[in-house]
Amino acid sequence: MSKIIAIANQKGGVGKTTTSVNLGAGMAALGKRVLLVDIDPQGNTTSGVGINKADVANCIYDILINEVEPHETILETRNEGLHIIPATIQLAGAEIELVSTISRELKLKKALNAVKANYDYIIIDCPPSLGILTINSLTAADSVIIPIQCEYYALEGLSQLLNTVRLVQKNLNPHLKIEGVLLTMLDARTNLGIQVIEEVKKYFQEKVYRTIIPRNVRLSEAPSHGQSIITYDPRSKGAEVYLELAKEVISYE
Ligand code: ADP
Ligand code: MG
Repeated sequence: MSKIIAIANQKGGVGKTTTSVNLGAGMAALGKRVLLVDIDPQGNTTSGVGINKADVANCIYDILINEVEPHETILETRNEGLHIIPATIQLAGAEIELVSTISRELKLKKALNAVKANYDYIIIDCPPSLGILTINSLTAADSVIIPIQCEYYALEGLSQLLNTVRLVQKNLNPHLKIEGVLLTMLDARTNLGIQVIEEVKKYFQEKVYRTIIPRNVRLSEAPSHGQSIITYDPRSKGAEVYLELAKEVISYE
């Protein structure tokens, strides 16, 4: 059984990409076959696993717009068991180009159906918006992980996200679930973090992962080396917590 998980929050900088790359790499390190899907025009997941976007022949844009088969876009990474459908800046045009397309919300779902059986997990890194690319992701997904940064206004904007999830459940994908809520970038030296944790737990209750991602400078360095934390610094706190998260997510199969 394979599971498709979208990593979504329309706020930028909350840890979607860091979580996609390192949760995916963590699962792969635990022996799972994982496909990352980069559907953010910024392509940070793509460069984050060491792919030079200038060398990408076919990307997620070609799947959504040009009917290219997904297997023609899939690339391997240096992490065994971790593959990716890359994104390039070309994808920035897709939002507008999809408007006039028939069943535009279903493009990603249809494409992933063709490769789903080859993977245990497919992880979709969503862009920082609730537009058609995120809708495609939520429509294709079995569940969604919501990363929340341990900061002031942590819960701000979440009602819009949850509304979008409900709309997708109602109209496009009735079986979409909330997989879990992930607290990210906790600064253990401040009381603020503790307050945010309590606030988020009050709101999402048992949906909040036991694993909380602390601030760890190695996590922010790894992407510039084109590596997940698992290969960049396997002994770092960042690698430890993302492996822990991978185990936790797998345990909820
Ligand atoms: P998003 O994809 O939601 O925009 P990112 O994953 O790109 O967020 O994270 C935003 C920035 O914060 C990036 O520069 C990233 O390297 C950094 N970052 C993310 N998580 C951590 C962490 N736990 N510790 C330190 N830096 C982090
Ligand atoms: Mg991102």
